[in-house]
Amino acid sequence: HGKGLGKNTYQYFTAQMNIAVKRRMTLESALRRAVMQKDFLLHYQPQINLETGEVIAVEALVRWKTEDSGTVMPGDFIPLAEETGLINEIGEWVLREGCRQAKEWQVAGLTPRRMAINLSARQFADKAFLDMVTRVLAETGLAPEYLELEITESQVMRQTDGMIMLLNRLSEMGIHLAIDDFGTGYSSLSYLKRLPIQKLKIDQSFIRDITVDPNDTAIVVAIINMAKSLDLDTIAEGVETAGQLALLRSKGCRVGQGFYFSAPMSAEALYPLLKQNNLYLQSRAR
Ligand code: C2E
Ligand code: MG
Ligand code: MG
Ligand code: MG
Repeated sequence: HGKGLGKNTYQYFTAQMNIAVKRRMTLESALRRAVMQKDFLLHYQPQINLETGEVIAVEALVRWKTEDSGTVMPGDFIPLAEETGLINEIGEWVLREGCRQAKEWQVAGLTPRRMAINLSARQFADKAFLDMVTRVLAETGLAPEYLELEITESQVMRQTDGMIMLLNRLSEMGIHLAIDDFGTGYSSLSYLKRLPIQKLKIDQSFIRDITVDPNDTAIVVAIINMAKSLDLDTIAEGVETAGQLALLRSKGCRVGQGFYFSAPMSAEALYPLLKQNNLYLQSRAR
């Protein structure tokens, strides 16, 4: 009977594998089609000056528009896009659309703000990346100092000479660079001195329990103080409550981003908030 069981188990696993492989292939061809048809949209989330409530920047977050599955979040397709290399085309679309929108807001008379765009490692490994960024800025007319590129700490850890050169070139062009999900990379901090970055984005996992977990408070305070002495800006990600905001302000954190102020939303939905330009008024109104 052992033999029979083995055979059944084998058949069971092959069936499961077939399902997984088929699902992946279906997803991959759907994503390829989406890239051709540009079935994506950007939502924008404000970054807030914690002293004044002003919006100092917005971060562009990509979504995939589908007919059957509604709006697909980046966590559910960016990994596949990275594996397949489709991220290069998606990333170019995101950059162009984000820069175009930033310019449109400027032309409409809103205070110019930085547009923050997320990058995957595979994008800046691409030889054509620098030319692509230069071309997109020229085409959209956005001045480079209004563009901020976000690279996660775990990607920075695997830095190569080529990557450091690229970051230097981007920085020389006037583009701002930010380290995303800072604190999650378990990295040596020595890279902070070597790279031309302006900003650390403190990962939301440290903000979540900041009012109840003294370890998280200590970590965040350490990051804020280290950043100050290295002359870097810091921003707290994932600010959801008034208590978190009060604590962050008392520790000298000057910029925040999170649901407490605003969820990521469409350009149209964000427009009145940008016009009003005071997210404290907004959060009090709720
Ligand atoms: P991220 O860059 O760290 O973006 C922050 C994520 O946290 C966003 O999720 C945002 O909606 C969410 N968030 C914002 N405020 C809060 C809050 O107060 N509480 C909580 N719990 N979450 C909050 P989203 O939009 O699902 O994006 C997830 C990740 O996908 C991003 O993390 C980024 O790494 C990646 N991503 C998004 N757009 C792009 C893109 O255009 N290109 C690349 N390569 N990656 C992208
Ligand atoms: Mg980000
Ligand atoms: Mg982050
Ligand atoms: Mg993240």
